Amino acid sequence: MSNICPKCLQENVVKSGIVKERQRFLCRNCNYYFTVKKLGKQIDDYYVTKALQLYLEGLSYREIERILGVSHVTISSWIKKYNIKRPPHSEFHTTYKVFKQSELLDFMKLEDNLKGSGLIITEFGDKYMMIKWERFKK
Ligand SMILES: [Zn+2]
Repeated sequence: MSNICPKCLQENVVKSGIVKERQRFLCRNCNYYFTVKKLGKQIDDYYVTKALQLYLEGLSYREIERILGVSHVTISSWIKKYNIKRPPHSEFHTTYKVFKQSELLDFMKLEDNLKGSGLIITEFGDKYMMIKWERFKK
């Protein structure tokens, strides 16, 4: 992780304690103190993109939280930040499953599992998540 001083934009920065669960840094160039992201899970753009995708697919904040391990409050703030509005999903029913690769192949072998639905497969760590949406039967 490279840290840049927000004041003088130099990279001459050292860690200087933790304040309110955030890492504090000191810029050796201009002696400015600043804090950055929370310690623990690094949230990168990958998670933001995934969260927005899942939201558009009709998942709730809580479901996305469970899948990504990112708090629903954070997810909600991203939805607002990017001004994401999802269309109504009244005719669709969304489900998701997490598979190992071999399980995924078994699932795909059966045509009945694919018919009449849309699928998105996305990588999560060493597994794959499949989001499936089907029309409600009338
Ligand atoms: Zn500085």
